[in-house]
Amino acid sequence: SALLEVRDLFKTYGSGETATRVLRGLSLRLEAGEMAALLGPSGAGKSTLLTILGTLMKPTSGSYEMLGVDMISADDRALTDFRNAHIGFVFQFHNLLPDFTALENVIFPVAVREGRETPAARARSRDLLVRMGLADRIDFPTASLSGGQKQRVAVARALMNGPELVLADEPTGNLDRASAMQVMDLIGEINRKEGTTFLISTHDEKIAASCRRQIEVGDGMVTG
Ligand code: ADP
Ligand code: ADP
Repeated sequence: SALLEVRDLFKTYGSGETATRVLRGLSLRLEAGEMAALLGPSGAGKSTLLTILGTLMKPTSGSYEMLGVDMISADDRALTDFRNAHIGFVFQFHNLLPDFTALENVIFPVAVREGRETPAARARSRDLLVRMGLADRIDFPTASLSGGQKQRVAVARALMNGPELVLADEPTGNLDRASAMQVMDLIGEINRKEGTTFLISTHDEKIAASCRRQIEVGDGMVTG
């Protein structure tokens, strides 16, 4: 069944002479449980699309429905609640707090939101870090971890709330091939075992090939 569907998305940054028309009638449907790569040259609008799908920005026009909810008419408060409950994010530059441990980084967003750190949340963060192959790094500050290890902490953090959808913007962009494939393998395992849907932007053909579906963006639309 459809996890989300966008139709006829347009996104223009700026206006007048300097307007940049990035998305121009983009339509896309993601089924629950998909593991999809988002491909396209730099500047094609991959980050723009992920930001819109993540409900962090609204399109200039077009429709967006996820889990049966209309994301266009929803107000900011509703979108924040929806995002916290259903969507996880992984970025190229992981955005971890360097002086905090791996465990603290994973638990921090949830603890801040709920105003407390529950034993259940601690147990879940530990479990996720173990599954990411980081059992022996749980209590190390993330500044001391390798690039690939940091990115696996970021994946664990994105999974903390059990999101249906994880949006990853060039998650392996600054990793060597071996670390990149290890991150992709772990993402693939979560996808298979939990049914979490992943949409992963990349300009690396090998990374894209490790996903079950490839979605190509060009000229502001899905071209393949
Ligand atoms: P990609 O992720 O495929 O590299 P982006 O979505 O980052 O593409 O960018 C698409 C285009 O939109 C680029 O030309 C970029 O310069 C422009 N752009 C992105 N964000 C902004 C912004 N906040 N303001 C103005 N232009 C932007
Ligand atoms: P509020 O200001 O109501 O707390 P925000 O939109 O600032 O709402 O944040 C809600 C959640 O969305 C945060 O927990 C954060 O993880 C995520 N979030 C917000 N902005 C971004 C962003 N630019 N990149 C990634 N995640 C973001």
